[in-house]
Amino acid sequence: MATAPAAAQVNLEAKSPYEMRVHLGDDVPETDVRTALRTGDMGFLHSYTTGSAVDGPGIRVVAWTTACMFRCRYCHNPDTWTLSNGIPVTLERAIDGVRKYAPGLKLMHGGFTLSGGEPLMQHRFAARLLAAVNAMGVHTAIETNGYYGENLSDDEIRNIDLVILDMKAFTRTQHERVTGGMHNEDVLEFCNRLSELKRPMWLRYVLVPGLTDIQRKWKRSRSSAPRSAWSSAPRSCRSISSASTSGNDSGWTTSWRIRRPRPAKRSRARSTSSARRD
Ligand code: SF4
Repeated sequence: MATAPAAAQVNLEAKSPYEMRVHLGDDVPETDVRTALRTGDMGFLHSYTTGSAVDGPGIRVVAWTTACMFRCRYCHNPDTWTLSNGIPVTLERAIDGVRKYAPGLKLMHGGFTLSGGEPLMQHRFAARLLAAVNAMGVHTAIETNGYYGENLSDDEIRNIDLVILDMKAFTRTQHERVTGGMHNEDVLEFCNRLSELKRPMWLRYVLVPGLTDIQRKWKRSRSSAPRSAWSSAPRSCRSISSASTSGNDSGWTTSWRIRRPRPAKRSRARSTSSARRD
């Protein structure tokens, strides 16, 4: 499979996830792109980041994939929207990019997180990369909007130690407003499936002034969230965190820890208001 020579020279590790990277995969023939998406032999990556403390538990290496089906109004890395903006990377190179950090990640109780863009736009590559890292004994996480969750088998999901599910909105109308017209039915379905499989999951909700931080809607969103997310998923939904994009966390950056339901009638989620910065 051919790869663009220039892209092969590009360092996987960027200075930051905000480093602008575009057109790095433009030279890959379309047939090779189709083969890559079908097999996962090759993926398209914006970059790797080391030392992240906000993309899962502990200190983590994060691989940022390119391509996303959403167009969130607050997206902070739109250069990851287009698949061909990414570096074409063989699966082996991507695995080696994590392997060299594996001893340190285990020592620091951290792990590897696959993020994006939307990593499940390249679900074959994502599934194989996460399985390989899991086999190293390194904690694995995926940050996903959940829209393509159905493309992972149950076994592939079990290779992922933590799913960080980016919940853009809980109602269809609000979800379409935030994401540029995409519905949230598949997202909620994936959330419920993770719950049924009893997989560890964090829900992440971004608070944007004037868009998603309207208290009335937020309260209603909580009440209309999938039942699994709030009350019936033993140890599955461990927490729901929200991140403010305003730069001012006071008042709105809040996390709710989902308690394991009690066997009796009072098995509902309880909230705390401990501040969490994302
Ligand atoms: S899902 Fe993430 S990468 Fe995609 S548009 Fe939304 S914020 Fe951006």
